Amino acid sequence: MTSELPDLVCVVCGEDLQREAVNLEKGGKGLPLPGDIAMCGACGALLCATPDMGFRVATPEDMEVISPKQRGTLASILRRRGKA
Ligand SMILES: [Zn+2]
Repeated sequence: MTSELPDLVCVVCGEDLQREAVNLEKGGKGLPLPGDIAMCGACGALLCATPDMGFRVATPEDMEVISPKQRGTLASILRRRGKA
């Protein structure tokens, strides 16, 4: 089966996000929607999905769109990783 998924890679470390990402927004499988926040499971970088199916490093403004619950999820992930 041919996948039409674009290459979803971490812009920070190059990890394949289809395997490693922790999706924090919208919770669905498949393509991220523009504005979705994901965290690279390899390096922990916070990424924001772009309209062209790529990712860029998330900004504080991007983070404001995620819900408090998701922010809590993120915080707990970061704590588990020993980064907070
Ligand atoms: Zn990464």
